[in-house]
Amino acid sequence: MIPSEFDYRAPESVEEAVRELHENGDEAKLLAGGHSLLPLMKMRLAVPTLLVDLRRVPGLHSVQRENGTVKVGALTTHATVAATPELGLAAKAAATIADVQVRNRGTIGGSLAHGDPASDLPAVLVALEGSVTAHGPSGPREIAAADLFEDYLETALAPDEVLTEVRIPAADGWSFGYQKFNRRSEDWAMVAVAVAVKSSGGVAEDVRIAMVNMGGRPLRAAAAEGALRGQSIDQATVAAAAALAAEGTDPPADLNASADYKRHLAQVLTKRALAEAGGL
Ligand code: FAD
Repeated sequence: MIPSEFDYRAPESVEEAVRELHENGDEAKLLAGGHSLLPLMKMRLAVPTLLVDLRRVPGLHSVQRENGTVKVGALTTHATVAATPELGLAAKAAATIADVQVRNRGTIGGSLAHGDPASDLPAVLVALEGSVTAHGPSGPREIAAADLFEDYLETALAPDEVLTEVRIPAADGWSFGYQKFNRRSEDWAMVAVAVAVKSSGGVAEDVRIAMVNMGGRPLRAAAAEGALRGQSIDQATVAAAAALAAEGTDPPADLNASADYKRHLAQVLTKRALAEAGGL
């Protein structure tokens, strides 16, 4: 329960943080809210010899709308995301994360960089087709959500890159549903489903469905999306689409649920999330 020894630095710019990471290689880890990293360190599943704390780096806390995009600084807490209605689906999902303490410390950048498929915000970013900005030794680059999450706790971020900003398309004209199933309130999702629907005159013009904890990374339910796109949103079309939600998935069984049970949950939660988004 006690982490192994480590050095600590708190740089005052993104460039300085990148330099610390670059010079110290795999031995160095960024620290944001610490709510994923510190438990791993206490269990000695992560043994960094240097923690590079982002808390003094300016400019990573703001939420700003620019044209059709909401730009969210990497250190924005889950509590702030949850309290920002402009963030639509991300706000809904962030409100379901753990408890007040975790939401007050945990950050959107830390959650996305950690790449845990059981986390809520990665699936939201995938559903909304957002992106992140990563700063490395050769400057910034943008990574689309579809390319960011590679496998369990693996992302496209290089060890010497700092995720600085999350870009979420503005919610105008979209409605959302977020349904999460856990054994006890405030637990991680056994499965969760994030839905975004753009409709006109009761017809679904566009549908996005992304699933939490159904594989090594957040997965889109492409067959279910295709079944509802262009259809009237009613109980029958929603049920028919939701029945396809688990198609092509091979979720790992865990202590809480077998793979079959997770596939069943994906269908049930997709139906509920579509109904929520469609106002049914
Ligand atoms: P940290 O723990 O500081 O860092 C996590 C990892 O990301 C580290 O490897 C770190 O080096 C890296 N990192 C951090 N910031 C950056 C950055 N800007 N650029 C590059 N790399 C970076 N999450 C959920 O989604 N749903 C839940 O239901 C949920 N329940 C939880 C329950 C408990 C009891 C706890 C302790 C945590 C829970 N979490 C849950 C996780 C929580 O949301 C974490 O806060 C989040 O996953 C990580 O964010 P952080 O800011 O704490 O990151």
